[in-house]
Amino acid sequence: MEIKDLQRENIKNLKPYSTARDEFKGQASVFLDANENSFGSPLPANYNRYPDPLQLDVKDAISKIKGVPIENTFLGNGSDEAIDLLFRAFCNPGKDNVIILPPTYGMYEVSANINDVEVRKVDLLANFQLDLDKIAETIDANTKIIFICSPNNPTGNSIDRTDIETILANFKGLVVVDEAYINFAKQKTFIQELTEYANLVVLQTFSKAWGLAALRLGMAFSSRQVIDILNKVKPPYNINQATQDLALEALKNIQQVNEWIKITVAERERLRAELTKLSLVKKVYPSDANFILVEVMDAQKTYNDLVEVGIIVRNRSKVSLCEGCLRITVGTVEENNQLISILEKI
Ligand SMILES: *Cc1c(COP(=O)(O)O)cnc(C)c1O
Repeated sequence: MEIKDLQRENIKNLKPYSTARDEFKGQASVFLDANENSFGSPLPANYNRYPDPLQLDVKDAISKIKGVPIENTFLGNGSDEAIDLLFRAFCNPGKDNVIILPPTYGMYEVSANINDVEVRKVDLLANFQLDLDKIAETIDANTKIIFICSPNNPTGNSIDRTDIETILANFKGLVVVDEAYINFAKQKTFIQELTEYANLVVLQTFSKAWGLAALRLGMAFSSRQVIDILNKVKPPYNINQATQDLALEALKNIQQVNEWIKITVAERERLRAELTKLSLVKKVYPSDANFILVEVMDAQKTYNDLVEVGIIVRNRSKVSLCEGCLRITVGTVEENNQLISILEKI
């Protein structure tokens, strides 16, 4: 399999936009090449210059933490931008298809629909693991991407590593492993497998463990070939300067993030134990993420009762295989105590 043959023909032939920063790289004292405001910005910090299109400083800092070379790293305006770009670069509208494994993250299907790309669904098994036989039957010559979310949203479990490896080794398209919740998991990241499989794309994000959902910064790690294609297709300045500055600051605070991860995992297990004791709870699913899927007697009623006291959870009871379930994010110790004491009363 050649990655360059997986991309759409128009993308293969695309001459990308060339920015002023692409045409002149280096130090100079007077920049009159990008029609910026040379006087400055009406802000304490200066944002008058266009940002680095390849965000090399941020990628360098990420590389020191993740161990992934800069040229294997793509940054998007949220992981959602990387997902959309994968469709735009690799999937021919009205012709190609992708495989998703419900119940899973909703954005894969929305992004496919926006791009007029067929979605083939292979439900997870009752234990929320992959149905490898059905996946194999569903793949055809036009299947470009398989999306595997691990730990999976909304079920919370990690997908068996050997099953993902089986797909990586046998499928001749891209395998996207969405690791938005990997920081909370016992399972290790697939980043180590990047050198092994050119068709592997690992998605991670600053939106969850890093506490920066509002910044909109997502990471895609992959082979040089895939990353080069994403860089060619992306909007030139997709990560703004404020985000780049703030991400660099945040990356210096990894200790704080690791502290929160530890507390979140401990709280998740405490919450799980407490929820299990409640009479309105039928089943608490094990979780490798920062949320728990809980089957209750009457999901709509429990949801409404919680809204009544100002606590909002996600009602997933209409989702296939999640019937009767609520998805509850692990909050602070105080928030979790509040949730439990309310649930004990209603
Ligand atoms: C929250 C989440 C993301 C994050 O998306 P961003 O665009 O980076 O905020 C990605 N994948 C899954 C499965 C998620 O639940």
